[in-house]
Amino acid sequence: MHIAFIGLGNMGAPMAHNLLRAGRTLSVFDLSAAAVEQLRAAGARAATSVADAVREADVVITMLPADRHVRELYLGADGVLAHTTAAALLIDCSTISADVAREVAAAAGKSGRAMIDAPVSGGTAGASAGTLTFIVGGDGAALERARPLLDNMGKNIFHAGAAGAGQVAKICNNMLLGILMAGTAEALNLGVAHGLDPKVLSEIMVKSSGRNWALELYNPWPGVMENAPASRGYSGGFGSALMLKDLGLAQQASLSSQAATPMGGLARQLYQLHQQGGNGQLDFSSIVNLFRPPEGGAK
Ligand code: NAD
Repeated sequence: MHIAFIGLGNMGAPMAHNLLRAGRTLSVFDLSAAAVEQLRAAGARAATSVADAVREADVVITMLPADRHVRELYLGADGVLAHTTAAALLIDCSTISADVAREVAAAAGKSGRAMIDAPVSGGTAGASAGTLTFIVGGDGAALERARPLLDNMGKNIFHAGAAGAGQVAKICNNMLLGILMAGTAEALNLGVAHGLDPKVLSEIMVKSSGRNWALELYNPWPGVMENAPASRGYSGGFGSALMLKDLGLAQQASLSSQAATPMGGLARQLYQLHQQGGNGQLDFSSIVNLFRPPEGGAK
């Protein structure tokens, strides 16, 4: 089986490495020559273009930043649909809008190609460890064809529903995560502003009804949790700019369905303000700094 892997960034590169480790044959392509070279050195064939990567592929896997990259890469004149065989299975792992996922899957289907959206959860650590969670939308038979490859890169695979459903489930999760992180940051700031030790307050809330994932595993206050990005200057982890993108996707989905998402809307605005403060590249738990009282302004 020949696999084309396109998009070798923070997530795509370690995912492609895991496929190579599992003995898969890969052609790889990225706009960054350095990213391609790194995979070539590990045993992949370095493709010179999208067309070159996908022409002989049985399976195409993509891991790209956002809607416009995915639409252009699949539907563009020199893109995936123009150059794959009709038998190719297409797997997009990027986090994008459900609308674009459906649009691209419909175009693929029209030309006889099977396609699934398979966004991931688990971050760069999960990508490196091969423990990602795949949240799949699309035809069940296409998922079964993809499953052995997803197993090489992840630990859990969920079938959320038809095309686009993987993206809907992914942004529901990330919207809730953004809300939980902002709420946790707000509560910690309130307690610290009243003289509480953030570690003690965190221990109290973890054993009380405010318990949540951000508090328990990803504490946003520096020094409370040794392995959290907060304790290494908010480096690594999941960038605030990517969280802002996902919260925007949730709002887009809310508009198209008319489901009310006021908490998600507020979380998006908070991350927007945080981004405007120049924090887009910092881990999303750095939102805690948005709530800090002004110097000397605390009680
Ligand atoms: P990234 O910016 O590190 O990587 C994207 C890669 O795509 C880059 O190397 C870029 O050069 C390449 N690219 C863009 N356009 C291309 C094109 N036309 N042809 C070939 N290559 C192209 O992003 P990332 O952190 O790897 O994230 C990828 C996706 O995964 C995003 O949708 C993100 O929201 C999602 N995601 C990220 C994380 C995380 O923790 N970083 C976690 C879960 C999901």
